[in-house]
Amino acid sequence: MPTPLVQELLTLSHELGREDRGLAILGEGNTSVRLSDDTFAVKASGTCLGTLKEEDTVECRFSALLPLLEKTSLTDKEIDDGLLAARVDPKAKKPSVEAVFHAWLLTLPGIKFVGHTHATAVNQVLCSPRARDFAVNRMFPDEIVCCGSASVLVPYTDPGLQLAQAIRQETKALIQQIGQQPRVILIQNHGTITLGASWQAVLTAMLMAEKAAKVFVGAAVLGGPVFLSGKNVERIVGRPDEAYRQRALKM
Ligand SMILES: [Zn+2]
Repeated sequence: MPTPLVQELLTLSHELGREDRGLAILGEGNTSVRLSDDTFAVKASGTCLGTLKEEDTVECRFSALLPLLEKTSLTDKEIDDGLLAARVDPKAKKPSVEAVFHAWLLTLPGIKFVGHTHATAVNQVLCSPRARDFAVNRMFPDEIVCCGSASVLVPYTDPGLQLAQAIRQETKALIQQIGQQPRVILIQNHGTITLGASWQAVLTAMLMAEKAAKVFVGAAVLGGPVFLSGKNVERIVGRPDEAYRQRALKM
């Protein structure tokens, strides 16, 4: 039987991998959960979110993966060796190549779950010249409640260690700029990461980012989108009834 936290990770994975949602198909995407101060569980390489089983998850040590972020150049073989060496159980499957960014995001205050998908509508925007417009602006109140007041935008880079380093750099920059932790990280020409204190928060942010992308694309066809003003965005962030709704959504 999986532990309760691993069971929650499987539930999140199955929700994100649901075919009708168009967030991740085949082996796309990955998920993780912080198990303790020392370890986290992450989806194994080559497994499928929609059908993820306990044996498709790997427990990894933070102390083995976080130092990789300080390396300027590692060969693919060195990264592979680092991923394998991070496993608590040497018989477990190989962790996803994205385990390094999961490790770093799970060290942010209050973050317990991380999800990553190649959500179709968000990727329509991230593969267009308007990716930054989508990341820094907000169009409707529920987008702010579920996705925060702005998303991190990471320029396209090689998946793996380089991407983990770029995610760290851009996430720190946005925290500095808006004084809040982001809920959504957008990677140009690649996909979406959402993070939160519960698996529900990760799913909610992912579903709302995907809906917002559909609204963005539709509004762009009609000559928009018309974005909310900075003042309106700030107002939603500060409203007590919206904070109540966030708690109800386990955000
Ligand atoms: Zn990906």
